[in-house]
Amino acid sequence: MHFFSSKFKIGILGGGQLGKMLLFDSRRYDLHTKVMDPNNKAPCSNIADEFIVGNLNDYTDVINFGKLVDIITIEIENVNTDALEYLEKIGKKVYPPSKAIKIIQNKCEQKIFYKSNNLPTSAFTNYSNLANLKEDLEKGNLKFPFVWKSAKFGYDGKGVKIIGNHDDLKSINDSPCLVEEKVSIKKEISVIVSRNVDGKMKCFPAVEMEFNDNSNLVEYVICPANISEEISTHAYEIAQKISQKLEMVGLLAVELFISNDDKILINEVAPRPHNSGHHTIECCITSQFDQHIRSILNLNPGKTDIKIPGIMVNLVGENKIEGDAIYKNINYIFDLPGVNIHIYGKEKSRLNRKMGHITIVNKEISKAIEIGKKIKKKVKVTS
Ligand code: ADP
Repeated sequence: MHFFSSKFKIGILGGGQLGKMLLFDSRRYDLHTKVMDPNNKAPCSNIADEFIVGNLNDYTDVINFGKLVDIITIEIENVNTDALEYLEKIGKKVYPPSKAIKIIQNKCEQKIFYKSNNLPTSAFTNYSNLANLKEDLEKGNLKFPFVWKSAKFGYDGKGVKIIGNHDDLKSINDSPCLVEEKVSIKKEISVIVSRNVDGKMKCFPAVEMEFNDNSNLVEYVICPANISEEISTHAYEIAQKISQKLEMVGLLAVELFISNDDKILINEVAPRPHNSGHHTIECCITSQFDQHIRSILNLNPGKTDIKIPGIMVNLVGENKIEGDAIYKNINYIFDLPGVNIHIYGKEKSRLNRKMGHITIVNKEISKAIEIGKKIKKKVKVTS
C-alpha cells in the first residue's frame, strides 16, 4: 500500500489543536487527510486537505465520514464508538480500535480494566448513581475524604472533586461515578507509549506534570521528569502493558501518580496525542505526532531520545466572559532564549480554554524552568 503522495486517505475525528499538530507531520509525509469537527472554524479547518463539519457523537455522521477514508484515527476520545465498531466490521482500519476507546471513555470501565489486568491503581468503588454512593456513606462503607469522579465526559479536571465532608457532596452531579482513595501524591508523571499494527512499542521519556491548584489544568510539563531510573523503568513497563492489553494502535498517554511512599499508581490514560507530549516537537528526536502517524501506518517507531531538555507552558484563557482572543505581552518571549510558541488558532478566548503553548528548551533544565515560570507570569491570554 502506498501512503505517501497518493490517494490513500487518513481520516481524523476531531479538529482541535492535537489534530492541527498531527497535520503538520502528515504534511511532511505528504499524506492526504480528511478531518471532521463540529466547529467550522476548528484549528484544523484551514490545514486539512478536506475538512467537514459533523457531530463526532452522531452514529450516521461518523459512519459517513469513515466510509470515505482508508484509516480512521482520533484526536479526541469522545466519539461514537458504535459507529467505529460498525466501520471495523465492514473492513475499515480504525486506530485506536473502538474497543480500547470504549473502555477509556468510561472511568469506571478503566478502573475495572486495570484491576482485572493486575495493573496498579488506587482503590476504588463504582456507583451507578449518587444515591448509591450516599447509601454507602451512611452504612460506613465509605469514609471522607475521597476523590469523586464522573464516569463520563470529565476532562481537564472538570469531572473530578475531592470530597472532604457532607457539604462538598452538594457540588456533585447525579450520574454514574466512581470514588477513589485520596492518594498522597509526591509527583504526577506521564509516559506516552506508541504501538504500531505489528505490536512494536516505544516509550517517550517520562515527564513531570505540574497542575494549577485552582483549575486542575496542567500548567507545566517538564522533560525529563526528575525521578529515579528504577521508577521510570517501572513506569515504562506499566505503560507498555496497558497498551498491549488494550491492543492499542497509536499513542497511549499514561498519567501516573508517584505516591509519598514511592508507589506508582495509574491515574488515567488517553488513546491519542496528549498535552503532556507537546514538548516532544522540540525536545525529542521524534515528536509524538510523527510517532502516532508511524504507528497507524504500521511504520517503525522513531527514536524518542531527548535532544534537549525543556518545559512546556500551557497558554489558557483567563477571561471569564468569552471574547476575541488577545495575547498580552507576547513580545516579551521573543527576547528569551530557546522559546518556541504554538498558537492553536481559536478565535475566541474563554476561562481555562487551551489557546496555545510555549516550549522552552535549554541544555540545563533548571534554566528552562526559570524562563518558563517567568513567561507564565507575564504572558496572558484574555479578550
Ligand atoms: P481529568 O480526567 O479531568 O484530567 P484526573 O482524573 O486526571 O481528571 O484528575 C485530575 C487531577 O485530580 C489529577 O491530576 C490529580 O491532581 C487529582 N487527583 C485525581 N485522582 C486523585 C486521587 N485518587 N488522589 C489524589 N488526587 C487525585
